[in-house]
Amino acid sequence: MDNIIETIDQVAEANPKRIAYDYLGRTNTYGDLKLRSDAWAAKLLTMQLKPGQPIMVWGGQTFEMIACFLGCVKAGHAYIPIASYSNAERLVMIQEVSHASLVIAIDALPDIALPGLQVLRPADVPNQHPAINISQAVHGDDTFYIIFTSGTTGKPKGVMISHRNLLSFVNWEQRDFKLPAQPSFLVQAPYSFDLSVMSLYPALTSGGKLVVLPHDVTQDFKQLFATLPQLQFNVWVSTPSFAQMCFLDPTFNSKQHPELSHFLFCGEELPHSEVLALEKRFPTSHIFNTYGPTEGTVAVTQVEITDDILAKYDRLPIGFAKADTQITLDETKGEAGQGELILSGPSVSKGYLNNPEKTKAAFFRSAGATDNSYRTGDAGFFAEKQLLFYSGRIDFQVKFNGYRIELEEINFYLSQNDLVRYGVVAPKYNRNHTVKQLVAEIELTKAAQDKYSEAELTRRLRASLAKQVMPYMIPQRFVYRSALPISQNGKVDIKQVIQEVNQ
Ligand code: AMP
Repeated sequence: MDNIIETIDQVAEANPKRIAYDYLGRTNTYGDLKLRSDAWAAKLLTMQLKPGQPIMVWGGQTFEMIACFLGCVKAGHAYIPIASYSNAERLVMIQEVSHASLVIAIDALPDIALPGLQVLRPADVPNQHPAINISQAVHGDDTFYIIFTSGTTGKPKGVMISHRNLLSFVNWEQRDFKLPAQPSFLVQAPYSFDLSVMSLYPALTSGGKLVVLPHDVTQDFKQLFATLPQLQFNVWVSTPSFAQMCFLDPTFNSKQHPELSHFLFCGEELPHSEVLALEKRFPTSHIFNTYGPTEGTVAVTQVEITDDILAKYDRLPIGFAKADTQITLDETKGEAGQGELILSGPSVSKGYLNNPEKTKAAFFRSAGATDNSYRTGDAGFFAEKQLLFYSGRIDFQVKFNGYRIELEEINFYLSQNDLVRYGVVAPKYNRNHTVKQLVAEIELTKAAQDKYSEAELTRRLRASLAKQVMPYMIPQRFVYRSALPISQNGKVDIKQVIQEVNQ
């Protein structure tokens, strides 16, 4: 395959009646996808936006969202997916960074003033439209989508993924995972996370189906366990922590899900014990661990976790690099025998949108190379035959319930609060190296100590963070200390605090 948009259109033209999307039993065909994505593209082309200017898309995981994504790229614009459970502050911040002049509101927008921003809604986009010409569609190194991740200074970073980046990823997933023909994929991750891309484009370019388990259903155990047994698909895609949650449902097994043949995990460490538990419930399925940052386009390594691998390694490998990608170790970073993982290849992003400083710090191009390289901040090492292992981070980024969080982003907002003299957040790990809790360690200002009880302080700090960061970044525990350890440079010694929290 050499073009994602054309391939999806070809699938749609050859199979207009085939189901492409299943949202809790509400289905849409490939014919619907072609009609609606063309309608979005036609509308956008009449709006005379600046060429290549990105478009923010606010919504959940409905069919209209993906039709709109395709409409944006057909009209030559990258899309920025923003989950509609985000707070208004995030929308404003993403607009500030991206300079987008248009937001598409698939769901209702938060009730705030959005100066300088045009709003387009599905009702503004009729299905009747002139035939569209997709010669201006996103291609080559044009940006296809932009995913915003946590940033260290309170400003999120927009990772630009080009058509060429995405193509390298999708071709690899279709080739190297021995997936069934016309696979049906679980879509659990919201579209603002690149894990969703592991389902989205491999499904649509191969005439497969997307079976959605919406975010709000997964937030409520009762709904989750009523819904999951009803869904039928053959490729599971999630973080390991989401699958662990599903273990609480006794019907999460091969009897209830006889078609489920492949599990693709990404985004955080896959515990050995989890694979053993999964094998008991799905004895004949193929379980893959994959690894990669958003900056490398979803994933760049994979390995099937066989009995052989389970017997050999307690901490599981993250896999072999995809054929077009080199992974090297910068041994000046990390502990002895390890190094920082550096990725080079066609799926490595061109950088962060409108952020040359952070781009320069993390990306580089070696002399004579045609692809970018990215410093991941992950530490790792190679074992036999180039099999790669992950051993932790070299900075203060963590994964918590699958969400990528720069602890410094939370620290930034905590320290801005008038109640706080110093505030840092520490991850509390379990023995599988998984973060189980975020603990805020706070040294209060004198005034705050005298004025409020601890319960009231916690309530106020939580309420203020809720406006500034994503809900999953709000610490579970707040601990008030008379003094936090200070390092030689006069700042809080975060490493020391993390050590203390994990003693
Ligand atoms: P994200 O950009 O949200 O996909 O997060 C990327 C980060 O998640 C990586 O840099 C790693 O720190 C972590 N990660 C992703 N996959 C794995 C894995 N299989 N095992 C351990 N950590 C992982």
